[in-house]
Amino acid sequence: MTSTVPPAPSQPGSTAGPADPVGGVPGAPATRRAEQLTRRVATGLDAAPVTMPAPFTGLPITALPQAADAEVRRVFTRAREVQLSWAEWPARERQRVLLRLADLVLAQQDEVLDLVQVEAGKARIDAFDEVSATALVASYYGKHSARLLAERRAAGALPVLTKASEVRHPKGVVGVVSPWNYPLALTAMDVLPALAAGNAVVQKPDNQTALSALWLHELAEQAGLPADAWQVVLGRGSAIGDAIVEESDYVCFTGSTPTGKRLAGQIAERLTGYSLELGGKNPMVVLPDADVQQAAAGAVTACFSSAGQLCVSVERIYVHESIHDEFVRALAERTGALTLGSGLDYHAGMGSLTSQDQLAAVSAHVDDARAAGATVVAGGRPRPDLGPLFYEPTVLTGVTERAKLFREETFGPVVAVYRYSDVDEAVARANDTEFGLNASVWTRDARRGEEVARRIKAGTVNVNEGYAATFGTVGVPMGGMKESGVGRRNSAEGLLKYTEAQAVAVQRGLRLRPFRGMPPRLWAKAMSAGIAALRRLPRR
Ligand code: NAP
Repeated sequence: MTSTVPPAPSQPGSTAGPADPVGGVPGAPATRRAEQLTRRVATGLDAAPVTMPAPFTGLPITALPQAADAEVRRVFTRAREVQLSWAEWPARERQRVLLRLADLVLAQQDEVLDLVQVEAGKARIDAFDEVSATALVASYYGKHSARLLAERRAAGALPVLTKASEVRHPKGVVGVVSPWNYPLALTAMDVLPALAAGNAVVQKPDNQTALSALWLHELAEQAGLPADAWQVVLGRGSAIGDAIVEESDYVCFTGSTPTGKRLAGQIAERLTGYSLELGGKNPMVVLPDADVQQAAAGAVTACFSSAGQLCVSVERIYVHESIHDEFVRALAERTGALTLGSGLDYHAGMGSLTSQDQLAAVSAHVDDARAAGATVVAGGRPRPDLGPLFYEPTVLTGVTERAKLFREETFGPVVAVYRYSDVDEAVARANDTEFGLNASVWTRDARRGEEVARRIKAGTVNVNEGYAATFGTVGVPMGGMKESGVGRRNSAEGLLKYTEAQAVAVQRGLRLRPFRGMPPRLWAKAMSAGIAALRRLPRR
């Protein structure tokens, strides 16, 4: 494993001056730019601020104003006012804002690549995944939302006499709660369709990565979004979570399964809608005919992008016994060759973990698996020489059921490789989990790959790719089965979930009851004959 970074500064916690780069990361924007972005936070600057450390250096990024419960409720009141006029905009005009936003994101990507790297500690190539996902989502809804939201005619109860339509109304104000791992992409994927549908949004990004979300917020207003149609509030979930849940007309939550379950319970009390994008323990199945080198290369990306802090990242690999040893050798070699680094350039293949909690959780999972009999074939150590939160990409074999990571999500750069002898067994083991977020199948026979894919109980399944094929295709839904979530983002579903469907039907002439003086039995007979005749028509 090669490294390209100078040692971390020796005084974590020291204060960076206004002209210093954000988080003390060489090459990052100046701290005053970070301060400027924090002024976009909807609540006052007088709330007690918090300062998060930059993962690469441990140095403080910038002071973030924190909201109190009452302030968040005031933000919702304002959102409700603005939503009324935003919803009046023709859907095509709202679309145009998103198309302009896609262009701005691509044109100004250098600054946000720096910010995402500084806040999340990821390699620039992984930060670029966020830029591309953001531009793709903005373009998709920028082109398709008006069509998807358009009123739809349906065949009426009585041909010609009943005219029926399906109308889509915005929910109102959508509360979006976002985690720290994909701060730009997840903001775009969850906030932009809500806006496209005519809602106002109040978003709570994670404090760790608030600047990346605020950067997109700034660009959205440059693209023509009216002020306050999207407002950002900051604060811990324990302080402002109740206000968000109680004030939202719909909640879109992305984060861990335990938090998602807790919020779902609270939301159920109000009978408002929600979507939950939660955790995973994503399997990859390597069929006997797979190209071993290609599968190993694919596994490195699938397991170690964003240092494995990616909800759709692969944590379990099932390899047919005929190629298992060759695959493990290839994966270990490619993993060992991965370059770790914190430069704000495209040199490094993997960055750092994002927080001390993440470092502790990853180290604990690997140590526990080792103690339960696993063999470390690559990585397996923290790398404080590179930065306070670096951990080597790690490949394990011989992981037993006693190990915590056999079933639990690690959410780090750690993968376990298992041997199987028959494809039915591999599918059964892939499905033997409480999660169902993402999966991957590798084979030279694409049709066979699709067959196996359809048998895996996961919301997205990629053939000959780890996650990017589905993640990058905005026209198909993304989300989790089982404990990985409820609802979907992207595609028509990711837009229509933010709407209330309304049926409007106009009845002309004949009412749907017996005519005056007609015996009900005769009416029932005539209706039955009519329904039977309609049943024979091909398109009703
Ligand atoms: P988390 O602890 O559940 O937190 C996620 C977000 O929820 C944070 O902003 C957090 O803020 C907030 N939060 C916590 N309690 C809350 C409450 N009571 N009310 C309102 N907000 C609350 O998850 P995480 O550890 O940050 O994220 C990692 C997890 O997210 C992993 O399990 C990963 O698989 C999952 N994830 C899933 C997807 C997906 O699309 N399926 C995408 C990314 C990540 P505070 O911590 O400040 O309270």
